[in-house]
Amino acid sequence: MAGHDTDIAILGGGLAGGLVALALAARRPDLRILLVEQGDRLGGHHLWSFFLTDIPPSARWLLKPLVVGKWGSHSVRFSGNRRHLGSPYRSISSARFDAALREALPAGSILTGAAVSAFDRRGFTLADGRQFRAGAVIDARGAAAFPGLRGGWQKFLGRMVRTATPHGLTAPIIMDGNRAQHDGFRFVYVLPFSHDTVFIEDTYYSDTPDIDAPALRERINAYAKSRSWTIAEVLDEEQGVLPVVAEGEPEALIGGMHGVARIGVAAGLFHPLTGYSLPTAVRVAAMIADMSDLSGEAIAGAVENYAREHWRNGGFYRMLARMLFGAALPEKRYRVFARFYRLGDGLVERFYAGQSTWRDRVRLLVGRPPVPLLAAVACLLGRGRALADLGAPGRLSHDTTIPAFAGETEDA
Ligand SMILES: Cc1cc2nc3c(=O)[nH]c(=O)nc-3n(C[C@H](O)[C@H](O)[C@H](O)COP(=O)(O)OP(=O)(O)OC[C@H]3O[C@@H](n4cnc5c(N)ncnc54)[C@H](O)[C@@H]3O)c2cc1C
Repeated sequence: MAGHDTDIAILGGGLAGGLVALALAARRPDLRILLVEQGDRLGGHHLWSFFLTDIPPSARWLLKPLVVGKWGSHSVRFSGNRRHLGSPYRSISSARFDAALREALPAGSILTGAAVSAFDRRGFTLADGRQFRAGAVIDARGAAAFPGLRGGWQKFLGRMVRTATPHGLTAPIIMDGNRAQHDGFRFVYVLPFSHDTVFIEDTYYSDTPDIDAPALRERINAYAKSRSWTIAEVLDEEQGVLPVVAEGEPEALIGGMHGVARIGVAAGLFHPLTGYSLPTAVRVAAMIADMSDLSGEAIAGAVENYAREHWRNGGFYRMLARMLFGAALPEKRYRVFARFYRLGDGLVERFYAGQSTWRDRVRLLVGRPPVPLLAAVACLLGRGRALADLGAPGRLSHDTTIPAFAGETEDA
């Protein structure tokens, strides 16, 4: 890879790009990596969480230095069902992500405040005109839109708050659905970080991507009040709009990775029903770091195959999303989740990891259906209610199309 400014350029220092950089720094210290991020810190402004069982044991080392919250179990609540589940739960903050990357990567491997304006398989150009030649280029710029997909949204606003007195919660509540329902299925997600620090997130499975932030803040206040917690201080706030994919054509996301691998949510590498991408991002990072041929073509080919396989495996979850968004009336969507959480621990774990077995799938579909049967059948046959097209939620700003790198090199 002589004659290049770097061996591997990773464009976008968010979750997927940062994890690949971390994995390569650990597994391939012989390579020069350049992680290029338009923002001033890596990872943006997020709290990412996951079930430990979502991550294959062989890849857990990658997340170890990033974890800021660690719990041995969690619970869910629906009217008539309060359930404790034994799966460990973890959280990563973007501040820790940024610090860990700066610690692990050699000096000169991170460029922040650097917006990429053009790239191709030979290199990239920054908005300030600087050009870099690379042995391989990976596009990890996140998603501005999800062309070709249809479905709905999981949207949320979360606040990290300090309570005036100890809140008494010791384990996360992943879904508190025992709440007034608005805008589709509403639940509250609660993570206790210390005796007086708790993250409270108001979440919706909705037909629209709009977030009414003042209303959600009010509902978070009301939730705290209902638990007799007095909010002494709001320490942080985040919001997000994630796609829930019911159907579509993945070609615009997956196809055409000619020499430049696209990774992260922009390549459809997320769970169709939760929009969560962390488990897949870890698997892809570990896969790339273990490849012997790290040419741009080889990485792009491997990632494209992985993304196609991921799309195929997601068919069952997309069918459930069709039933959720197409057959269940928005105000009755909670029933689907309430029923789901009556099923076995192992099934629930495999579901979130996107690894449901055939037995799990049958178990999820048999029994008294939580949505009207005729509507469900109509949805499965593609005759259900029209679903919202997944366009670009306002939060995401950059364009997915980008001109080619204008560098002078053309390696045959
Ligand atoms: C608030 C929030 C919370 C979430 N929580 C979870 C969770 O708990 N668990 C989970 O699994 N998933 C979660 N998700 C969903 C998903 O995992 C995240 O959105 C994840 O960050 C997506 O990773 P990514 O690398 O594809 O994109 P991003 O993390 O968005 O990274 C893309 C990066 O590229 C940079 N970039 C874009 N354009 C350019 C350019 N031209 N030049 C240079 N840099 C550029 C961006 O600034 C950004 O840093 C959450 C999403 C949000 C919004």
